[in-house]
Amino acid sequence: MSSYESVIGLEVHAQLSTDSKIFALSAAHSGAEANTLCDPVTLGLPGALPVLNRRVVDYAIKIGLALECEINRESVFERKHYFYPDLPKGYQISQYEHPICSNGRLAVRMGEELRTIGITRIHLEEDAGKSTHSETEPVSYADLNRAGVPLVEIVSEPDLRTPAEAAAYMRQLRQIVRYLDICDGNMEDGSLRCDANISLRPYGQEEFGTKVEIKNLNSFRFVERAIEHEIQRQTLMLEQGEKVIQETRLWDEQKSATKPMRSKEYAEDYRYFPDPDLPTVVVDPVWIDKARSSLPELPEQVFSRFKTMYALDDYYAERLSEEKLIARFYDQAVSEHNNPTALANWITTELYGRMNREGVNIEECPVSPQNLAMLVRLIDEGVISGKIAKSVFDEMFSTSASPDSIIEAKGLRQVSDPEVLNNVIRGVLEQNPQQVAQFREGKEKMLGFFVGQVMRETQGKANPEMVNEILRKLLSEDA
Ligand code: ADP
Ligand code: MG
Repeated sequence: MSSYESVIGLEVHAQLSTDSKIFALSAAHSGAEANTLCDPVTLGLPGALPVLNRRVVDYAIKIGLALECEINRESVFERKHYFYPDLPKGYQISQYEHPICSNGRLAVRMGEELRTIGITRIHLEEDAGKSTHSETEPVSYADLNRAGVPLVEIVSEPDLRTPAEAAAYMRQLRQIVRYLDICDGNMEDGSLRCDANISLRPYGQEEFGTKVEIKNLNSFRFVERAIEHEIQRQTLMLEQGEKVIQETRLWDEQKSATKPMRSKEYAEDYRYFPDPDLPTVVVDPVWIDKARSSLPELPEQVFSRFKTMYALDDYYAERLSEEKLIARFYDQAVSEHNNPTALANWITTELYGRMNREGVNIEECPVSPQNLAMLVRLIDEGVISGKIAKSVFDEMFSTSASPDSIIEAKGLRQVSDPEVLNNVIRGVLEQNPQQVAQFREGKEKMLGFFVGQVMRETQGKANPEMVNEILRKLLSEDA
């Protein structure tokens, strides 16, 4: 065990899913041909003036409210200067001294425990373009489609203590921005990415150690692994009596290691100053109230409601509140047929299983909540057995048909007619006198054999409870 405690703070960037850019009318989506989503503002042409996209502010207010922040009445855009080929203006427009939101918190669920992580601030900024470097020639390319795409940067307090906690925090943020419909949360495309700040200090010490920042982590796994690795690296240094130097590093997934990127820059290097082209952003209380009343139920609220309203355990409540559309699907299904536990089970096993295998998301899911509810009702009413229901479900998923139509078309209705079952069972017992004798000599196990035979005769459609009951009756009667 190490004698150092790790201290972690994350800076999470989320691309806002607006139609147009933060200060220009070009489209803000990804996937277009390079340099086609450009305009004088995006290109930084002299004389072009930025105009703030109102929806960007609206989205920032929403995430601010969801993270219990103060929404600042006034916030200011500033120029952050640095030179990079994908930043044509020579500066990035960001917020610095006066961000739009401050002083929030997020309760992160770690098993049974809730850890409250402070949110220092949320600010708005523009994304930069994208550079690519040729591997064969000494050439680099700049694509400015992403330049000017709106971002919120969510800065946490150094309240996180373990790599797993950092990943859980990031997961919860992703869930929230997706619930709010302000960011698609697509980490592979970089719509959600984070910089992790890590330092160590001896247990019991109040003062923080020197931190290292790891840039641009774009998967939960990378967040966890990069932090783990950085903790090891710093532990080793401290144990050998070396000093950690403040710097920015990059995670190299291939090598499973971080490597230096640049030594720490200081705020003064950026020569921040308020952008004279953009007026102070003023958010009045009416705007905040409007945003507040448009907030959806958030994941934690859904999680708690599912536990109390439907008596679900933590596992089901968590899985079903993962996404807003899943939660909605589940609510609808339960409203059609009131068996919350069975529906939770069907969704988290059969439905998720099939959706995963076929790479289908809930929006594209061929099974409607109404049809899933009907399937469970048909089981509960004894029309089909649980086993038959699985094959009906497979068919529902393949064809979108309703369970009752599949059951009729395939003649899958469960046989619950005592007369029919009596006849089948009598037949089975007559054909297997040896096994009957064995059963009567005390070989209880033979019961399973008889049930199997009855199921074979009825193509699995016999009501299993009734089969058991009738079997026991006939076997004891004839003795
Ligand atoms: P900088 O001036 O280097 O940008 P900030 O104080 O703005 O640093 O913090 C940036 C991020 O680093 C925040 O998420 C913050 O919680 C985290 N952080 C600050 N100090 C430490 C530290 N000593 N150890 C770990 N994380 C830290
Ligand atoms: Mg900072």
